[in-house]
Parts: sequence; C-alpha cells; structure tokens
Amino acid sequence: MLRVGAMVMLMLACGVCRALSLSNAYSSPRNKERAVRETTQYIILHTTEAEAKSSLRKLSRNGEAHYCVDRDGKVYRIIDRRKVAYHCGTSMWAGRRNLDNVSIGIEVVGYHDRALNSAQYTALRELVLLLQKLYNVKDANVMPHAQVAYGTPNRWHRRSHRGRKRCGMGYATPSVRKLLGLKERWLSDPDVKARRLTVGDTFLSQILYARNGDALLPYKLPAAVAATPSGKIAKAVEKVSTSLPMRKPVREVLIKKGQTAWDVAREAYNAATTVYRFPDGRQITGDKLTDWESLVAGTKVILGEAEGEAVQTLAAGMHPKALVGDAVMAADTWYIRPTGGRIQGSRLNEKSLKALPPGTKILAGYAMCGPVTSRNLPSKLCPLRWDAPDTYYLFPGKSLQPATKIDMKRVPAGTYLFYKN
Ligand SMILES: [Zn+2]
Repeated sequence: MLRVGAMVMLMLACGVCRALSLSNAYSSPRNKERAVRETTQYIILHTTEAEAKSSLRKLSRNGEAHYCVDRDGKVYRIIDRRKVAYHCGTSMWAGRRNLDNVSIGIEVVGYHDRALNSAQYTALRELVLLLQKLYNVKDANVMPHAQVAYGTPNRWHRRSHRGRKRCGMGYATPSVRKLLGLKERWLSDPDVKARRLTVGDTFLSQILYARNGDALLPYKLPAAVAATPSGKIAKAVEKVSTSLPMRKPVREVLIKKGQTAWDVAREAYNAATTVYRFPDGRQITGDKLTDWESLVAGTKVILGEAEGEAVQTLAAGMHPKALVGDAVMAADTWYIRPTGGRIQGSRLNEKSLKALPPGTKILAGYAMCGPVTSRNLPSKLCPLRWDAPDTYYLFPGKSLQPATKIDMKRVPAGTYLFYKN
C-alpha cells in the first residue's frame, strides 16, 4: 500500500515528466532506524565506481543512498527520501559540514571517468527535476559528490583539503548539466575561498570550475545529446545508444615518476587492503608501510575492495603528524591507545604526542559521544550517525570496531561512539 502510494505521488508531482521506472527491490533494511532530515538543501550526485549488482547490494546493506539509477534507467529506492542516508562521508559546503543531514543522495551505476548512457541521463534528469520541485532545491545546489567531499589532514596534505574523491565529477561540467537540464553551476569553491580548505586535487578543481572543464573530461559525451537544446533533451537522449561500454574499475596502478601513494590510492594509501609491490618483488600492505620515500616509480599499487578506512594506525617510530598533519592537537582528533584508553588531540602536547605507543589508532575529524547506558542507547546518543559506516565504537577496555561490524543488540554499557563531525 505504502509503495503504491509513494509511486503515485511521485508521478503526480511531475506532470511533464515521463513516469520514472521505480523499484523497491533494494529497499534498505536500515530504513526503520534512520532519522528524518529536518531540511533538504542539496541533491548530491554520485557514480558507484562498481557494477550494478554489487553496488546495489552494498548501498542497500549500509543505507548509503536514497536512489540508485541502473544502466537501463531503472531507479531503485534505497532509503526513504525523507530520512538520512549516508552518502557524503566527510563533507562540507559553504561552511556547513556533514551534508548527509541536509541532502538527498543519488547514485548512478558508472564511473567518474566515463560517460553515463542515455537511459541513465534521461532517468537522472527526471528524478532530479522531481526532487528539486518537491524540496525547492535550486539548480546550483545539485552537485557531484566530488564537489562537497573533503579530506582531513594527512601526510600528503597538512590541512583539510578538497579533492578526497572524484566521485561524479562530470556532473559539474556545463555539457553534462545541460543534459540534466540544470541551468546554474558554482563558479568557485566557497570553502577554498574562505580558506576553510585547500585545493588537494588541481585536476578536479579544473573539471569543477574551469571554463574549459568540459574539454578536460577524460570521456566524450555523445555528440547528439550534447548539442541538443534543453527542453527537447529527453527525446534526443532517447535516440542515443544505451550501450556505452562499461569497464572494470582500475585496481592495479603503477606509480609514475613524481607520483605519490596519495595520487594513486587516495585515502586508502595506508589501508590494510592496499598492497604495494616494489620493482624488486618485495610486497607490503599499506598499514605496515612506514618508509614512504621508498615508493620508487614502477611500484605497483593494488587497491583492495574497501575504500580508505577512517582509522589510521601509528607505526613504531612514526610521529602522528605523518598521519594527520596539522590536526595532531585538534579537538576533533582522537587517539585510542592499544589498551583502549582515549585521548583528545587538544589535550596533548609535543611531548605526550611523541610518547604515544605504536598501535595507537587515530581518528581525525571526529566527535565523541557516550557512554552508552541502559537508558542512553547509541541511537539516542547519536541519532544521525550511530550506524553510519564510518562511525566507530569503543567497547570498554577494548579496541575500536566499525559500526558495520557490530551486533547492535549487544553494545555494553560504558561504550563510546566516534562519529564524523
Ligand atoms: Zn560518491
């Protein structure tokens, strides 16, 4: 009953649109737990960077999007559009952080460096238009994930920076926006302008803001679509082939001269799932690598399934600065000792920083809440992010566990939660 009602409403809300093909086949089990958003100011567009089946399963399992547009243009509803979905990760726009709380997230099956196919552009255009009308979101505030994601300081960037992700970057270019019927775009990054962030990826910022951003895209949009005046777009889009080839994501990258591990692995540079194979045959995982200067050209970087993990681990002889840059003594940097003790960065000095034991876990850009009691359950303590994939639980006297690996029915009293702030 509910499903039928929702679909009828979606169709009514957009008399001019072709009816969208909607499916609840991947509706997320997380729906019942999620808080309702108080306001909706942005629509954030993503590319899944993986094929449909695995993407839909993961999005549904973790509740990481409101919608996902498949290759045939079919739209899957994942999280109820009124509730919070975790799709932005660490994000900021115009000084506002954690855009999950004020945005709708749409994933499209595809890759940030490939064009979508015509069925996808058509469906996305209709879906976006519909949601813009429902929530009164202006064209400029329909943005790619890459535009709002940012990274906290690390060994490559001493300050918080734009460029943590290239997810969906093409959506910001004039040619793609024309396809999507969006008339406005941002011409500069307000957070870089206000010096809240630095530019961590100049190529990305050219794609997002430069006049010739379109020309820099590593793919060509179908000419018939790109040249169509807006208004007749849906029809023209229909005519273009729906079978642009997809390809597997790049999992193995050779480091070229002058490139760093950050350039190829991004946040996964020190993850246990990232493997470095040196030209001499030696091999080491990202979490064990300490000698970053030994990354000579020709080193092969093999990226695992997991994206970069938020938790970083202090290796023997390593200064925390090497992992979190200037954020070492920030109030939103947390250190978890191997014995389970937690220390806030702002409570440390140069001497106590150096004394942190190897194996200390570091969370940058995090806030803490707790302790959990029989009255204060995680969902009450941290209603917006208690079950987010990048939220971590610190059980009494034990190490950190990601929210995704926890039996939520058995969270003991005295547990603390760390969530992206
Ligand atoms: Zn994304």
